[in-house]
Amino acid sequence: MFKKVLVANRGEIALRIIWACQEMGIKTVAVYSEADKDAHHVHCADEAICIGPARSTDSYLKVPNVISAAEVTDADAIHPGYGFLSENAHFAEICDACKIKFIGPPPRILNLMGDKARARETMQKEGVPVIPGSKGVIASEEAAMKLAGEIGYPVILKASGGGGGRGMRIVRTPEEISVAFRTAQNESEKAFGSPHLYLEKYIEGAKHIEVQIAGDEHGNVATLGERECSVQRRHQKLIEEAPSPLLTDRARKKLMKTAYRAARGVGYANVGTFEFLFDREGHFYFIEANTRIQVEHPVTETVMGVDLIQEQIKLAAGERLALPATDMRMRGHAIECRINAEDPDSFMPAPGTINGLSFPGGPGVRIDTAAYSGCVIPPHYDSLVAKVIVAGKTRADAIAKMRRTLEYTRIDGIRTNISLHLKILADPEFRDGTYTTAFMDRYFPKRDRGATF
Ligand code: ADP
Repeated sequence: MFKKVLVANRGEIALRIIWACQEMGIKTVAVYSEADKDAHHVHCADEAICIGPARSTDSYLKVPNVISAAEVTDADAIHPGYGFLSENAHFAEICDACKIKFIGPPPRILNLMGDKARARETMQKEGVPVIPGSKGVIASEEAAMKLAGEIGYPVILKASGGGGGRGMRIVRTPEEISVAFRTAQNESEKAFGSPHLYLEKYIEGAKHIEVQIAGDEHGNVATLGERECSVQRRHQKLIEEAPSPLLTDRARKKLMKTAYRAARGVGYANVGTFEFLFDREGHFYFIEANTRIQVEHPVTETVMGVDLIQEQIKLAAGERLALPATDMRMRGHAIECRINAEDPDSFMPAPGTINGLSFPGGPGVRIDTAAYSGCVIPPHYDSLVAKVIVAGKTRADAIAKMRRTLEYTRIDGIRTNISLHLKILADPEFRDGTYTTAFMDRYFPKRDRGATF
């Protein structure tokens, strides 16, 4: 097992990883930017190293600085968390070259899944259903127009190197395609350094359901149930739950089998998530694989009784998978609400200083946060302040518990989206479980419906 792990992240996930290491008797190194010198994670680790100025490209994303920090502290592994360098194959290769274990899948898998058009092609070859669309990257505007005509509108143009809900454009008519193609290319180039796009049929009113995967370096793979993540704003998840409210046992079995086949097929190692969209007829299609720990992993931990961060560390250390392949059962119901520092009406980030903070507890309530009274939510990073996760015997219990927990949560000094969460939890469509990725459109004016992200 590793002796010392460097945590190449910040916020709640850095703390989560540091605490998991402490429970396993592993020493930890925190890294931080100048903006994060007073951050909670800095004080919890055994050692802490400043890796640069506030801008993430100068600190958390700066490979030489992270590697140097690991070398001077003699860390034998790096946990990248989510975001930042977590899916960066180049970084994982450098870790390998420096004999530092990257806690995540091997570079081969990061490369394959990081190119979403290639991932789609590979899945198709493995016999996994994908949404009708382009074979690989779409070469030109004309080719996009031709293909869209064949598969029928609406379609969606997506950045092959994209992520975080960005670099996508929904196209509803042939007249829109040229402008959409050029703008999406520009956006993709700017945000991800590559203009490559691919095209899919746009599924109206889809449900986003994803499967948690774990695999070892000896060829064993397990599926750990699903998470429903259809409450989304601008293609970004806001609430996640497990099990998915309307999935039948039969459909679940089929989904798990498919995800298992996909993960086995590519020789998946470490933890990951295979994401699927379900159409109104209940057919499901692979959309992408995330080769890292997800923000919403606590939902799975709650219903499965596993610690996914500890699993990641054990798998990276070469241990054999100790979980059964496909027959792990979810127990009870879990919901997670992402509490963001933002204006609840405009969704604009609202960073600032928290000057009062209190979360209620009770059985089945878990709060993953790095916030404390007096802490600053800096404007440089994502706006996540806390993840509130609840467990109930049934979905109705979990909803009641989440409402009670959020009603008694106090975060003073900044604006948050707690009021929006409470509205969603009371919404009949959320309560009956029929909600789809179109659910949030109702809450916002038409001009802001996210078709252009
Ligand atoms: P990202 O990596 O940026 O998160 P994904 O491919 O995972 O991108 O898609 C994010 C979300 O965008 C999905 O959960 C869904 O809401 C929407 N989406 C993506 N592709 C489609 C599609 N073909 N049809 C309908 N919605 C889609």
